[in-house]
Amino acid sequence: MPRISYVNGRYEPHSDAMVHIEDRGYQFADGVYEVCEVARGFVVDMTGHLDRLDRSLSELRMAWPISRRALEVVIGEVVSRNRVRNGLVYLQVTRGVAPRDFLFPTATRSSLVVTARKIDPAVNANKAEAGIKVITVPENRWDRVDIKTVGLLPNVLAKEAAKAAGAQEAWFVDTDGNVKEGGSSNAWIVTKEGVLVTRPADHGILRGITRTTLFEVARKLGLKIEERPFSVSEAKAAREAFISSATTIAMPVVAIDASPIANGHPGSVVLSLRQAFFDVAEKRSA
Ligand code: PMP
Repeated sequence: MPRISYVNGRYEPHSDAMVHIEDRGYQFADGVYEVCEVARGFVVDMTGHLDRLDRSLSELRMAWPISRRALEVVIGEVVSRNRVRNGLVYLQVTRGVAPRDFLFPTATRSSLVVTARKIDPAVNANKAEAGIKVITVPENRWDRVDIKTVGLLPNVLAKEAAKAAGAQEAWFVDTDGNVKEGGSSNAWIVTKEGVLVTRPADHGILRGITRTTLFEVARKLGLKIEERPFSVSEAKAAREAFISSATTIAMPVVAIDASPIANGHPGSVVLSLRQAFFDVAEKRSA
């Protein structure tokens, strides 16, 4: 069965799905995106992801390409046409196709691309069992990372540096030595007292949808949360560390810059959050 992707109103074989060379996403990274997890046939937290898409679009004064309701239908179609039960759905909106000019085009429709792919749940389950390693890198992104734009070159380079160091994620660190977030995830620690700590999302990081749902999961499990900055040295001395994102949920971190966290094995708090996540998250059938 060929993969099917949605491009500007059409469902096409993935290998033939194209956008124009003057799409502003391609030329200026003038676009935004979302990634939703698909688990057991459900699209997870779609409302939160589309709310954030709406915010990203309005921050950039970009129009919805189609109505929100129509986009929900397209997401469902792409997931079901590709028979994705476990995996992800990716959607990207750009300011559209126009002759190259820095200024916003006046009569251009936003472009919309939606793709989906299967991921074997065992891959993440195995990763969670082993835990991942992270490195730290100086923050070098613009200060509007609260908008989920496709301008991800610093993230690409940071994650490539992580890979070169034998790690799976890079944490951006601000000039005060505090952890901001990962290249494609939010960053968390668990203190010796069992308190969850993550940086406030009002400035300088992306407000992860998984992060928000994990707040609810933590409340349900009776865990205390503090939204405050934490330093790299506090993280290295923490009882546990982990990352969160739609594709990884809560994923244990077992080493930061090659220094092991606690005994170097995934912690029990992150594993309990991971376990309870799906019960709490919104599930919409595709
Ligand atoms: N921060 C960054 C920079 C990201 O790219 C992501 C993943 N989209 C996240 C945080 C986590 O967000 P979410 O939980 O919505 O996937």
